Amino acid sequence: MDNLSFDKRNGFIWYNGEIVAWNTANVHVLNHGLHYASCVFEGERAYNGRIFESQQHTKRLFDSAKSLDMEIPYSQKEILEAKEMLLEKNSLLDAYVRPVVWRGSEMMAVSAQATKIHVAIATWEWPSYFDPEQKMKGIKLDIAKWRRPSPECGPVLAKAAGLYMICTLSKHEAEAKGYSDALMLDYRGQVAEATGANVFFKMPDGKLHTPLADCFLDGITRRTVMKLAEENDIQIIERKIMPEEMAEAEECFLTGTAAEVTPVQSIRRALINLLTNAIRYAGKAKAKIQIFDDHSEIVIDDNGPGIPRDKREEVILPFTRLDNSRNNQTGGTGLGLSIAKNAALNHGGELILEESPLGGLRVRLLLPL
Ligand code: PMP
Repeated sequence: MDNLSFDKRNGFIWYNGEIVAWNTANVHVLNHGLHYASCVFEGERAYNGRIFESQQHTKRLFDSAKSLDMEIPYSQKEILEAKEMLLEKNSLLDAYVRPVVWRGSEMMAVSAQATKIHVAIATWEWPSYFDPEQKMKGIKLDIAKWRRPSPECGPVLAKAAGLYMICTLSKHEAEAKGYSDALMLDYRGQVAEATGANVFFKMPDGKLHTPLADCFLDGITRRTVMKLAEENDIQIIERKIMPEEMAEAEECFLTGTAAEVTPVQSIRRALINLLTNAIRYAGKAKAKIQIFDDHSEIVIDDNGPGIPRDKREEVILPFTRLDNSRNNQTGGTGLGLSIAKNAALNHGGELILEESPLGGLRVRLLLPL
């Protein structure tokens, strides 16, 4: 069943108020939702026949639709009842529930004034979003190169299909490198969320820190975890979190309907990050590890243009982004370096930048033994 294409499965789908056979729930190729991303959806889970926070999910579906100027032609009560009825019809107790709202085929242009708003609901069995073995060990996160857009760019708080384009790209890039998922920064360079889940960090102060959900989905699981933490006297701090602060985090986990609560094992370890960046951007890189009486030294040389000499301190402390600078041959993003610098400081070491005899940048990471 798991590998069966989603259009070939058995069961029933709720489609514009009717229960239809799974394989007949189709749309035409000329469909506004498909061409212009005029589409919002929900992801919910039922446990033992009951949908977790069903009302909140339905409310969010209506809010998302409204923010894309779409009026759902049903009441929230009708959608709530339809979800329950469909689960029963498909004989599912533990299941994923996917309501989707989209504009139809009546118009094929940017303007969509006359399109009909369609609603469908599907339910299926979906045990674990991440590989269960990986999940037990803790997953590994890459850092995405795509960023969550600013609220001035669009309705960024909605669960809108169009916003998932950069999530799919980021997840594919992470998976190609062997990571389970990617952590995305926002347009300001602050930590935002993973590609389909929110993120929490346990910091040395013993409190749970999570980014303010001001430009990404404020997850229902995120809010549930915050409530549970408060009930258990664990203080929650919602704040701006810079990527270099992650080096201090003692624990990290993701929250989401699909991901549930998933522990994170590492966020692209600093050294690997330094090396891969050096190789990716410089073309040629060399690493050397030396052990001295009281410290070890890791030296990474590259032959790339590196960060311009007069910009190095600025790039690293505090972390700032030289936009697209690698591609313009004028320097790097500094993210790997700033994470490594914090990791080194937290272990009583330091990170030194010099000219490399290879012609690029030399990074010396000194760690006490
Ligand atoms: N962010 C994104 C981008 C998501 O797709 C999801 C999953 N819906 C979340 C966060 C978590 O939201 P929730 O806990 O409501 O599922």
